Amino acid sequence: MKDALPLIDAQHLVLQHAVPPGTESIDLLQSLGRVLAHDICSNRDHPPCDISAMDGYAVSAADLGVVPTRLTVVADIKAGDLPVLTVQAGQCARIMTGAPIPPGTDTVIRVEDTQAIAADKVQINISAKAGKDIRCRAENLRTNEVVLKAGTGINPGVLGILAMVKCAQVQVRCRPSVAILSSGDELEGLHDAFDINKIPDANSYALMAQVQALGIEPKLLGIARDDPDDLLEKLKQGLQYDVLLVSGGTSVGVHDFVRPTLEQLGVKMHFWRVQMRPGQPVAFGTRQHCKVFCLPGNPVSSMVCFEQLATPALRNMMGHTRIFRRTLPVRLAQAVAHRPGHIEFVRVVLSRDADGYLATPTGSQSSGVLLSMAQADALLVLPNGSSGLAAGDVAIVQLLDGTEFEEDDRCIQ
Ligand code: AMP
Ligand code: MG
Repeated sequence: MKDALPLIDAQHLVLQHAVPPGTESIDLLQSLGRVLAHDICSNRDHPPCDISAMDGYAVSAADLGVVPTRLTVVADIKAGDLPVLTVQAGQCARIMTGAPIPPGTDTVIRVEDTQAIAADKVQINISAKAGKDIRCRAENLRTNEVVLKAGTGINPGVLGILAMVKCAQVQVRCRPSVAILSSGDELEGLHDAFDINKIPDANSYALMAQVQALGIEPKLLGIARDDPDDLLEKLKQGLQYDVLLVSGGTSVGVHDFVRPTLEQLGVKMHFWRVQMRPGQPVAFGTRQHCKVFCLPGNPVSSMVCFEQLATPALRNMMGHTRIFRRTLPVRLAQAVAHRPGHIEFVRVVLSRDADGYLATPTGSQSSGVLLSMAQADALLVLPNGSSGLAAGDVAIVQLLDGTEFEEDDRCIQ
């Protein structure tokens, strides 16, 4: 693989160009998966006062010297009440979860540790230290304190906190616009008449789904034929977007016009080959704000290259700090062969036994067998220097599904 870049260098190069495009204000209801543009401060103490963590009785710990203790119930307090009555020695208050702790008490005894004796008498069957089962004022949120930092990805928990601090409009990072173009004379569009001699366009849709899974709705530009004029028109359209994904026609065959046409349009190409499999002929270029990924035509290669180069770039452009797929050490269920000189991504299914996760390759690893990707839970990483792994060896996998990402991508070094 002469002139081919190590994947880690290609990834760094892409990330240097993948800067976030700006910020915008959006409705909280639409904010899942977006990234906070600013720090968020709390506008209240939450809880606003000390409250009960349990249904039970608010008592003074000093009253519980001898077990059991009988106390007189002088109040009934629900969440949302504002108790004013001070509970005296020998007394207690019935209290519900979330209700404010009344003056004169410092402990909550859960109902399971008590016995009702009469309508206004209760027997407490345990002793307790002050502070038991009390949630302190502001233990969740404190007025004017930063509760969420800029760069935080909005997951369901974050979204709940934004609602707690009444952030109905949220300032978030803009998402990059993405266009997808397939190229090749042999390609048959999804709605074209069935022709047994053609190759159905899978890449437009698999790439579309990969982009959608990151939270971005891409524009499909269709199919460009292996013809410089048709390519020129479609590539011109694609260069209006922040990211253009082109699959097919990017190699050096006599019908591969993508590279010269992009250069004719003023795109600066940064690399054309990467030491990886599947997907060695993968290229990256830039023109003004547009970043162009030229992905191999083989469907598996196209998807794997997207994962390794475009996924971190798009996540970075969305403002995320965790941009790489989550990784996991697993044991191999069977041997996998490898010749050193490139990093290889083996599509695997994960299962579990008593010792943890096991990875089994999804059958044929040909880059034309898209089912290998359809079935895969993860990509097993065979590093550049590896000369293969035996059954039972431990290796790293990148998990393909889910919304959890991490900051480091040590596995491709
Ligand atoms: P290329 O990179 O253009 O040389 O294409 C490599 C292989 O990928 C060829 O067998 C193509 O038919 C196939 N291919 C190219 N583009 C697509 C696509 N959009 N969908 C499915 N297969 C494709
Ligand atoms: Mg082609």
